[in-house]
Amino acid sequence: ASEAEEHDVVVIGGGPGGYVAAIKAAQEGLKTACVEKRGALGGTCLNVGCIPSKSLLNNSHIYHQILHDVKNLGDVKLNLTQMMKAKEQSVSGLTKGIEFLFKKNGVDYVKGTGTITGEHEIKVNPLEGGESKTLRAKNIIIATGSEATPFPGLEIDEKRIITSTGAIALTEVPKKMVVIGGGIIGLEMGSVWSRLGSEVTVVEYLGAIGGPGMDAEMAKTMQRILQKQGMKFKLNTKVMGGDVGSDNIKINVESAKDGKSEAIDADVVLVAIGRRPYTSGLGLENVGIEVDERGRIVIDQEYRTKIPHIRVIGDVTFGAMLAHKAEEEGIAAVEYIKKGYGHVNYGAIPSVMYTHPEAAWVGQTEQEVKATGKEYKIGSFPFSANSRAKTNLDTEGMVKFITDKETDRILGIHIIGPNAGEMIAEGVLAMEYGASSEDIGRTSHAHPTLSEAFKEAAMAAFSKPIHA
Ligand code: FAD
Ligand code: NAD
Repeated sequence: ASEAEEHDVVVIGGGPGGYVAAIKAAQEGLKTACVEKRGALGGTCLNVGCIPSKSLLNNSHIYHQILHDVKNLGDVKLNLTQMMKAKEQSVSGLTKGIEFLFKKNGVDYVKGTGTITGEHEIKVNPLEGGESKTLRAKNIIIATGSEATPFPGLEIDEKRIITSTGAIALTEVPKKMVVIGGGIIGLEMGSVWSRLGSEVTVVEYLGAIGGPGMDAEMAKTMQRILQKQGMKFKLNTKVMGGDVGSDNIKINVESAKDGKSEAIDADVVLVAIGRRPYTSGLGLENVGIEVDERGRIVIDQEYRTKIPHIRVIGDVTFGAMLAHKAEEEGIAAVEYIKKGYGHVNYGAIPSVMYTHPEAAWVGQTEQEVKATGKEYKIGSFPFSANSRAKTNLDTEGMVKFITDKETDRILGIHIIGPNAGEMIAEGVLAMEYGASSEDIGRTSHAHPTLSEAFKEAAMAAFSKPIHA
């Protein structure tokens, strides 16, 4: 190997956690390198996650809307190849944008697989092959992300038995799709293919859809809405296995309630039962860094492993597997390195599910608040009473505030509705500033906007809404 290059910070992984940490570190005047093995920056999120899925969600929504809701606008035909092209263009534009930001900020982009070989040493096997090189680092930030959790007995080929990576790249619309797992990936990707004409059945082990963290009332509402759109749900149902034939797949399921079994036919099966931390080839064992029983790298509150100058952020450690959570941690970890302090408010990280309508939430669910024993109030307002939603013929869903009965402080906000993902930002800000529902209810919101539903739900929590 050639002589080691010295850096203040070496980041392993160029996803939302890693690339943000690298840019921030360079901005703080630290000599920084970022090692990434996939040949493009942006990680799971930009390459095979957030961005490609949202491109398909957006275009399939437009297609579906024209086909079903506004038939009088004329005929529409699906061009799947073009839809995939649009997706690829969005991805490549954004990943190249990060490369540009690296150059602009002076981050060394090292293309290859990074393995920790010593407490201050990373060996990189270059992507293009050839001799490995060694980087020396005062600080290391691990941001190696996650991968889809496989389903035992169903071998992923990304064509017929797929994860989300196959689901963003199918070359034809499957007649029948079975989705194992009714969490965010299952519902987003299930929506895409259902809108394009597939008969989608979601099999979920629990009694509710939406994955961990969704308010129970919202999960029920969402299920009803998606059912109306044509998706089928089998809740409280265990997948026992599958028989993969040459032209048909049978997924064998069993009711978790009465043990009744049945087989569901599928052309394509999407496995969406969660993601697991990815540390393969990282060399944690070389320096004795531990992972917990779920494979997450163990860290303290300052993102430090037991080797204090090796920090960890994003999907590969604790907490929600979300791009913006990884980004916040990237900034905070660098601030700890540079200044000795940093901060992420884990009580105010929004979640958004990009179905139509979208679901978005921040803070506690009603079931979580109930479990604390605290007395609380609910204020809700339906989009069917909001003038803009009515005008847009897009009235499904509602805004729900949960507040502390005694102090009126907001404990959680849950939205299902058009543009919920943008609207939740106001709720996150409110929670960051410790707002009460009265603070929001007395704040002027422009008319006619969807955000008036947000204000009216806040009014409902401390007083009464006007339009319901
Ligand atoms: P990752 O993005 O996984 O990046 C890790 C990177 O490290 C990878 O590029 C990998 O190649 C690289 N790497 C791993 N090991 C090494 C090594 N040894 N050497 C060099 N490089 C290495 N989140 C949202 O907030 N909003 C969404 O809308 C959303 N949609 C999603 C849709 C899908 C289909 C999926 C799968 C995920 C989605 N997520 C979404 C989750 C989001 O993608 C992740 O939370 C986010 O990417 C985590 O960022 P990260 O930096 O921790 O890891
Ligand atoms: P998830 O944890 O959201 O949902 C998995 C679902 O599968 C759960 O409802 C779970 O009960 C169910 N399940 C688990 N094992 C099962 C089994 N054997 N049979 C049937 N059901 C089973 O996970 P996901 O949907 O795979 O998403 C992975 C991660 O990616 C999540 O952390 C999610 O936050 C993130 N993501 C986020 C977005 C977004 O922010 N819009 C989009 C996609 C993915």
